[in-house]
Amino acid sequence: MAKILIVEDEAKIARFVELELKYEGYEVEIAHDGRKGLEMALKKDVDLVLLDIMLPGLSGIEVCRRVRQESQVPIIMLTAKDDVTDKVAGLDMGADDYMTKPFAIEELLARIRVALNRHAKMKPGAGRDNILKHGELELNVASHSVHYGGTELTLTKKEYELLEYLLRNKNIALTREQLLNNVWDYNYFGDTNVVDVYIRYLRQKIDDRFGVHIISTVRGVGYIIKDEG
Ligand code: CA
Repeated sequence: MAKILIVEDEAKIARFVELELKYEGYEVEIAHDGRKGLEMALKKDVDLVLLDIMLPGLSGIEVCRRVRQESQVPIIMLTAKDDVTDKVAGLDMGADDYMTKPFAIEELLARIRVALNRHAKMKPGAGRDNILKHGELELNVASHSVHYGGTELTLTKKEYELLEYLLRNKNIALTREQLLNNVWDYNYFGDTNVVDVYIRYLRQKIDDRFGVHIISTVRGVGYIIKDEG
């Protein structure tokens, strides 16, 4: 199971997140200041870093910048304030994702799964599947075509990309922000309604048309394509 490093000076928050992650089966290490966090983040066996921004020693932004000089380990930034400058700085320094405290633990867990998943896919040799399947639904990456039970579907570019992203991250609850970032390349300031609109288009073209239930809503989080049982 993946090892997650929590860099957070607020002991209560660090402890709470640690317990939740351990409950999910992750291994957890904690650093309470920026310098220790940087040192631990550069260890080979750390798979993901949860990095607070306001830290004693070195700020989270600076830790992120220095980690990125040596490592592509996934980094999710945490901050107490909903500060646009911090968000931009964190993402500019190469953070993978961003969460504002207080956050719902389910959302954090979902983002951790996505970041780990995306990182695993980028590793050399991981390869990209050319055919993504879900039941009768088949998406061919090479030909950019989608079939349901042999019938070809006519999807717009964005519908196709959204479907591909959902299929690549099958069984992972994806937040609207993640979908926006990865499919639209919008940043966090975008209006997430566009995601709901495109999910509706896809449901009309697949679920409604073929009388199936492919794309599920995860209340309070976003969307998922889930294997049965
Ligand atoms: Ca802090």
